[in-house]
This record gives sequence, C-alpha cells and structure tokens, in this order.
Amino acid sequence: MAKRVRTLKTNRADIRRLKTDEPPSNDNDLPERRLRSTNRWKECSKSIRRCNPLCADPLGHHAKDGRPVPSEEVHHIEPLAKRPDLAFDGSNLIALCRKCHEAVERHGMPKK
Ligand SMILES: [Zn+2]
Ligand SMILES: [Zn+2]
Repeated sequence: MAKRVRTLKTNRADIRRLKTDEPPSNDNDLPERRLRSTNRWKECSKSIRRCNPLCADPLGHHAKDGRPVPSEEVHHIEPLAKRPDLAFDGSNLIALCRKCHEAVERHGMPKK
C-alpha cells in the first residue's frame, strides 16, 4: 500500500504580494484630518475652544434639550479644501461638540 504523503505548498507569490513597496493609499486622507495633526492647528483649536467653551449648537439641538454641551472640536465653516487660506482664520472657525461636528461634516452648516 502506498503511503499518502501530504505536501505542504508554500505559495511564494502570495507571500511576496503581502510585502509591497507601494505607499498606503491616502484616498480618504482629508485635508482637515491632515491639518489636525499639526502643532499650529492644535494651538489654534485650543484657543478657539478656550474662547468658546460651549458647542455653538448650529442645529439648535442643545437649545432644544435646554442644556449646553462643552465644545470638543473646531470646524471650518468654509471647507479647508476650498479655502485653505482660512485654515487658521477665527472668523471661519466654529467650536462644536463631537456630535454637532459630525452632523455638519455630513450635511453642511445650516443656512441662516
Ligand atoms: Zn469640520
Ligand atoms: Zn453640539
């Protein structure tokens, strides 16, 4: 009776495919996210939040709840991609809580 020998195949091509020299894709690396890692932005954002310790409540959610919410993040009213010159311009910045920031990032600032 012949013994059945199991051969272990190492697929070199597959291994090579895992170590690619290509840089990671930056497709979802938004300019605003890149800015947030800079020291200049950290200082700027800190001072905006110091002057505006509460969420600006652009959607009126907190007013409806009857309680203010501390600001956690700073948003660019004119998007950074469109107006990079206003990146650190106080008139283009607004202090928001995380929830409101997510909402305005997704739907834009409500029209006044
Ligand atoms: Zn934002
Ligand atoms: Zn808020």
